[in-house]
Amino acid sequence: VKSDGRNGSCFFTPEMQARSARLIALGHALKQAQQRGELRLVYQPQLRLSEHRIFGAEALLRWDSPQWGAVSPAEFIPIAESSGLILSIGDWVLRTALRQVRHWLDRGLPDLVVAVNLSAVQFDQPDLPDRISRMLDEAGVPPHCLELELTEAAAMKTPETAAQKIQELHQRGIRLAIDDFGTGYSSLSYLKRFKIHKLKIDQSFVRDIDSDVDDQAIASAIIQMARSLSMGTIAEGVETAEQLAFLRASGCDDIQGYHFSRPLEPDAFEHFVLRDVG
Ligand code: C2E
Ligand code: CA
Ligand code: CA
Ligand code: CA
Repeated sequence: VKSDGRNGSCFFTPEMQARSARLIALGHALKQAQQRGELRLVYQPQLRLSEHRIFGAEALLRWDSPQWGAVSPAEFIPIAESSGLILSIGDWVLRTALRQVRHWLDRGLPDLVVAVNLSAVQFDQPDLPDRISRMLDEAGVPPHCLELELTEAAAMKTPETAAQKIQELHQRGIRLAIDDFGTGYSSLSYLKRFKIHKLKIDQSFVRDIDSDVDDQAIASAIIQMARSLSMGTIAEGVETAEQLAFLRASGCDDIQGYHFSRPLEPDAFEHFVLRDVG
């Protein structure tokens, strides 16, 4: 069946068919990826502007499939979420990132915070705070070395239980950042009640920040609001010196982006930090 191009009313184009065949095949391959060691983490440095110091990194998942090549997390994470596979993959990500931090601390790297992305499905687990505490203990990593990145949508889906869970994580000393901030629909009143360490300004506001006055206004407003609610800010997707200059002048605390560094293999991250310290 093919679209006649006039009203687009046809249901299943060859493109859609190919697309869903790929999704199904990727889903199958993903089930084995974890045991077969095809998953790994890379670490993108995060820079504290006031101290010009690397204080942490975001752990980002990579999948090198022998069959499909490098598959983007933007494609396979939603597949993992809808199949429930994200729970075991998410546990693996947390354990691997924490083990990595422990290794870096043992190697004498200064106190580091590793930021780990948490999908809504993971966040919804009733025993999440216990699970994470257990993983921290197993890895021998203090809770303040872990920051969970949660999107607004994940946090706001069920605001009441979310508030409680966030409170529990906070009491255990685990940090929380709201990812892609500004793209969702956060209720500002909840934001005030939640114990959130940091707002992560979405890269869609950063991209044209040196020329687009609307993006400038949004970024500045987020930074000022965060400050008055005692939260920090980090801008993601910072690619140019001009973007950095604007963010610095607006009072943004931290930055992450290609301008400073791409996501790095663990060893490369270690060298990057040691060069930065030395
Ligand atoms: P995200 O959490 O918003 O991560 C930021 C993305 O922007 C990453 O893409 C990163 O590589 C990319 N990036 C960093 N600096 C720049 C820059 O200067 N310019 C541009 N254009 N992009 C930059 P990546 O690694 O492909 O990840 C895509 C998304 O996949 C992530 O978006 C996150 O939502 C998801 N993801 C990645 N790893 C995990 C994970 O371990 N668990 C979960 N649940 N989701 C993950
Ligand atoms: Ca993130
Ligand atoms: Ca983000
Ligand atoms: Ca994003």
